Amino acid sequence: MSTTMLINLSYTVAAVLFIFGLKYLGSPATARRGNAISALGMLLAVVVTLLDQAIIDYRWILLGVLIGTAVGAFAARLVAMTAMPEMVALFNGFGGIASLMVGWVALAQPRLSSFILLTIFLSILIGGVTFTGSLVAWGKLSEKLPGRPILFHGQRLVNGALLLANFACGAMFVLHPEQHLWLYLAVALSSILGVMTVIPIGGADMPVIISLLNSYSGLAACAAGFAINNNILIVAGSLVGASGIILTNIMCKAMNRTLGNVLFSGFGAVDEAGGKIEGEVTALSAEDAYYVLEAAQSVVVIPGYGMAVAQAQHVVKELQQILEKNGCEVIYAIHPVAGRMPGHMNVLLAEADVPYDLLLEMDDINPRMEAFDVAIVIGANDVVNPAARETPGSPIYGMPIINADYARTVFVLKRSMASGFAGLDNPLFYRKNARMIFGDAKETLGRLVREFSN
Ligand code: NDP
Repeated sequence: MSTTMLINLSYTVAAVLFIFGLKYLGSPATARRGNAISALGMLLAVVVTLLDQAIIDYRWILLGVLIGTAVGAFAARLVAMTAMPEMVALFNGFGGIASLMVGWVALAQPRLSSFILLTIFLSILIGGVTFTGSLVAWGKLSEKLPGRPILFHGQRLVNGALLLANFACGAMFVLHPEQHLWLYLAVALSSILGVMTVIPIGGADMPVIISLLNSYSGLAACAAGFAINNNILIVAGSLVGASGIILTNIMCKAMNRTLGNVLFSGFGAVDEAGGKIEGEVTALSAEDAYYVLEAAQSVVVIPGYGMAVAQAQHVVKELQQILEKNGCEVIYAIHPVAGRMPGHMNVLLAEADVPYDLLLEMDDINPRMEAFDVAIVIGANDVVNPAARETPGSPIYGMPIINADYARTVFVLKRSMASGFAGLDNPLFYRKNARMIFGDAKETLGRLVREFSN
């Protein structure tokens, strides 16, 4: 077998490992295995690539590996579970800049066809946008930059002009590759474009953008793969590009918004009151809620962003165990966009060791909702807002929700009557079967747990 065949065979094995890795990453129960399998695929790809290329000096590579490992290991230990979206944003950004640099370095190759020049330009354009866009996303998520959308007059026009200017530089670069100025201009313009594309997007929409930027980082790697004629980079880049866009699509669907709406509407810039609701809310103390829970046969817990803010996942688990000991069935209903990142609730509940089989998805729980004695809504708001079902004209009309209002009694744990991310009043709070238990979710749940142990 020739060396080229052996290398391509190894790349195929690596690609298969990536695909299986992605498949296993689809469920929390197999995600660790998926991660390990993908990492194995990447190790194989890297080792084979190092053997394939005529490496002049391994010392630089070793230095890179050492620095990368140290930073990665340090960050993985240090970063809190709640700061994961920021971390992913940085990863995407570094992926983007790496592709930009690979594209740039590809200029040093002896023969440069127009196709290779085009792919060099594309890796620089997409890599640059991904890098600076991800840095802005990181800044917004970590609250180092203001989370609200930054909008100005003629913004889309400016962005369109930037993109056109970028393409013009690309065309000039392909036609005159000896004039490097066009490439430098493309680097500068794509970096500015990355910032300009992400600033009009609100902090809470960042997860969607991160997923989109993740897809971009894959496309940039794919372009870089073409630029240096490396098959595994092309395959891995395409996989990341495709999976990122699928996840982006899933999130947009779950919010009943188009990607265009997320990118351009400046959602969250103004308080879209959507009409104040007339009516009264009934407040209840944790102590009184205890009597209802004590008698309940079945309870569904519906967590949302507030559970993450309060870090209430451990005390929720405690309450679940107490209720179960009391002969009550407890189920968790998980909305796909509850919280501020995909799988946010799953991650938090997994951290508290809540068994996966107690977590039901929206479509599985909704048909059973009427059978539950109590629904405990913990810091969730938009994802249980019946206006999405009943009020045409509401900004969230048509968004699939968890029908908490169909349960016999609904306890809503939140601190005030404040709205959620979408800025809308919630008719659920005014329903006859709803009781508001005001206060920090962790404290309220702690009080419920204490009532049971008294
Ligand atoms: P919401 O943002 O609708 O509501 C969160 C609620 O939590 C607030 O009403 C707040 O009320 C309450 N809260 C905050 N802190 C606490 C606390 N310490 N204790 C108790 N309650 C608290 O969250 P949902 O999870 O219901 O919905 C998620 C929203 O984010 C959706 O609109 C979704 O489209 C959007 N989104 C989600 C993405 C994802 O990937 N998951 C991506 C992009 C957007 P109060 O201040 O009164 O306590």
